[in-house]
Amino acid sequence: MTIDIQRAAQLDRESLFHPFTALNDLYRDGPNVMASGKGLHVTDIHGNTYLDGMAGLWCVNLGYGRQDIVDAIAEQSARLSFFHTFNSMSTDVAIECADALLKRAPVPMSRVFFGASGSDANETQIKLIWYYNNLLGRPQKKKIIARWNAYHGSAVMTAGLTGLPGMHALFDLPLGPILHVTAPHHYRKAAEGMTEREFSRSLAVELEELIAREGADTIAAFFAEPVMGAGGLIATPEGYWEEITPILKRHDILLVMDEVVSGFGRLGTYWGAQTYGLEPDLITAAKGVTGGYFPMSVCYISPKLWDVFEGNRDAAGLFGHGYTYSAHPVGAAAALATLRAIDEDRVVDHVAQVGPYLHERMRAVLGDDPMVGEIRGRGLMIGIELVKDRATKEAFPMAQRVGRQVLKAAADRGLITRALGDTLVFAPPLVIDRESIDALVTIFKAAIDAVRADVA
Ligand code: PLP
Repeated sequence: MTIDIQRAAQLDRESLFHPFTALNDLYRDGPNVMASGKGLHVTDIHGNTYLDGMAGLWCVNLGYGRQDIVDAIAEQSARLSFFHTFNSMSTDVAIECADALLKRAPVPMSRVFFGASGSDANETQIKLIWYYNNLLGRPQKKKIIARWNAYHGSAVMTAGLTGLPGMHALFDLPLGPILHVTAPHHYRKAAEGMTEREFSRSLAVELEELIAREGADTIAAFFAEPVMGAGGLIATPEGYWEEITPILKRHDILLVMDEVVSGFGRLGTYWGAQTYGLEPDLITAAKGVTGGYFPMSVCYISPKLWDVFEGNRDAAGLFGHGYTYSAHPVGAAAALATLRAIDEDRVVDHVAQVGPYLHERMRAVLGDDPMVGEIRGRGLMIGIELVKDRATKEAFPMAQRVGRQVLKAAADRGLITRALGDTLVFAPPLVIDRESIDALVTIFKAAIDAVRADVA
């Protein structure tokens, strides 16, 4: 590293436009500059080491500094650093990767389409859905339903699909035919006294009413994360999918599972779709496919769509969509090494063991804490919502920024978490062990204790 450590923060503020960052926060107390990582830990330029409770951004599933993935990337970079897949071109490694991914699909899938980010993959999905309905001669069947609090990316269409008003304001979004329905969050959205099942039923009624109002012949697809991540870490209530999937089927609405976070083991099954027994028509994956070692995304295309694409190939001619880095050979090599490691290290079985342990420990230590309103999630995804009054669920005033205070207190103690408002979330590397889970919970409790007096 050639950068002057003393000047790094200032140089950052003068040169780097940060995603999802308030300039006021950056200018006041940022940035936190990381320099290296090994296993579950990252170290900043001043030498402070942190347990990474967020696996980077829900992506470093196998931990940092894995030599097998590093070697695969280095070897492929040396052998063929780039070639594309436009105009019938291909590479040996991209073919092997596509085949390996298809073999791991939760339901039979016909093809994979590669991109470089979760956002571009979901943009691709939207275009595939429209392409499909145009080929079927249903040009009016184009609307897409997503849920409030969903996160599907930050490109123009996908930021609209994302159900976070803060990502719409100032960007003139959503654009296009996008509809939102209530987030499946029992704690915050269910009427007083409603059971989870009753709440799921009410969400099904809302969906039916929306479809009736808009016309089923105008609605193409329903997008969903198995467990919502960036929108507050929300797992679906009991009975949710049993209510929703028959409605989608009845109205010929495609189900798109956004498995950008949940894919490759995070919920203790290889795919989130398997956790919930779902049969998606399209699946979006990214992040964990290379464990964050290389930007890569994957759209899985089921026979339902593929047969239409293939069957109409004379009429369709050129498929006019793609990215320079679709099926990047270095990404494909990184993915192959990652997939191999997930299998060989039995990572998914490991998550099935340690995921429940994380929830158990968090509940044991913080379940009765007066500042904790709800502990939620599934597998190695957990969210802890802090509240001012546990009995009434009253939130802290926004201006108090309690979530951010806890995040900082945790960082001061060597733990990285993420604050989604006052919900603190963890999605650690999938290879985390019980001892490190104990450390995570202990430090997190200490961070809450540290801000308790100030925010009471
Ligand atoms: N979908 C989900 C569920 C995500 O969590 C994310 C990112 O966090 C995305 C899509 C967008 O991925 P990217 O940031 O790689 O564009």
